Amino acid sequence: MISVQQALHIIDSTMISHHIKKVKISKSLGSILAEDISAPINMPSFRQSAMDGYAIIWSDKTDYKVTEESKAGDAKHITLPPLEAVRIFTGAKVPDDADTVIMQEHVTRQDNTITITKMPRQGANVRPIGEQVHKGDCVLKKGLVLNEAAIGFLAGLGIKKVAVYNTPKVSILVTGNELQKQGKPLKEGAIYESNSVMLHMALHRFGVQKVKTFTAKDTLKATKKAIHKALDYGDILLISGGISVGDYDFVKEALNINHVDELFYKINQKPGKPLWFGKKDQQFVFALPGNPASALTCFYVYVLPILKKYAGYNAYHLPRILAKIDSEFKNTTGKTLFLKAYYKEGNVSILPSQQSSMLNTFATSNVLVTIPEDVEYINKEDKVTCIRLDGYGN
Ligand code: AMP
Ligand code: MG
Repeated sequence: MISVQQALHIIDSTMISHHIKKVKISKSLGSILAEDISAPINMPSFRQSAMDGYAIIWSDKTDYKVTEESKAGDAKHITLPPLEAVRIFTGAKVPDDADTVIMQEHVTRQDNTITITKMPRQGANVRPIGEQVHKGDCVLKKGLVLNEAAIGFLAGLGIKKVAVYNTPKVSILVTGNELQKQGKPLKEGAIYESNSVMLHMALHRFGVQKVKTFTAKDTLKATKKAIHKALDYGDILLISGGISVGDYDFVKEALNINHVDELFYKINQKPGKPLWFGKKDQQFVFALPGNPASALTCFYVYVLPILKKYAGYNAYHLPRILAKIDSEFKNTTGKTLFLKAYYKEGNVSILPSQQSSMLNTFATSNVLVTIPEDVEYINKEDKVTCIRLDGYGN
């Protein structure tokens, strides 16, 4: 058995070779940019008015004659002599001769003559060419998480496709004779199978689109065959159940037969002690304990970092924060605990139903409080580490 720290060290030192693909920017949300982007154009690419108003050649005179109009999208060339003004609108091309735009609120107009009531500095309200970015500049760096602002920015540069790191294809294999699909009354001794949809949704929330679910009964033959099929599909395989030491737990043996090499097995933690992690060539396999809260905890702490690494993230662990615990806590287990808890404004409450079979309070928790194996007692108001569960992707 290894400690949580040792297990995390193995996760951190796992090297993953990246695959890069070109995607439409509308398909890139949450992906990691796999190339530096240099601006293909100046932004703006022409001198733009930042206001609705009047373009002039700046002088100390206040009266100008309005002779022409320039609205957004107009491309015509306008000649502008001194003491004349061009009626202009936000985003429109500023005539080459003009150097200043007067806001319409700072002008009184009578017929075709304007009188400027408040003269701005020379050059005001004209966005110069390349004000935001210059053509050829490196404007976004490889490794950036593409959010809606980045995608909007790329669109504004006229870029249709970008290179991003591939997200992995994931197989989920659920094992257990007792598992029943939803839709019919429960048979005696059966339970509704819930890990596959739960893991699928967790994968979905963190940007994995390609997921396929497999099932196996508790026999070595079925487990071996199902692992073989699941490895054929996915880059990463998540197995649920069958990894403990019971007489009908065949996952470890079946992984061995399928030539998946063990990287670790069993962590001094609660829940999720019998977690197994291994590798076959470039594929990674996690065998998660079947108890739902164990499976999900192991997903957040160990699986997610591997998925995020695969997708190119540099920050691949869920964020950790410190919070004041609102009651004392005793850890008599000698194990690291991951406790379902609720965080609000710097304070955290440990929730009831900590058993590994229970999801009822996992459903309402937004953090997992981590109590290290060597900490036996925590006072009320002490600071504890919380793993945040409420983020998306980043
Ligand atoms: P196992 O790890 O296979 O020994 O299973 C531990 C516990 O988790 C047992 O009570 C199982 O019935 C339950 N369990 C296993 N797989 C699932 C699943 N897919 N959905 C819900 N509960 C499960
Ligand atoms: Mg089982």
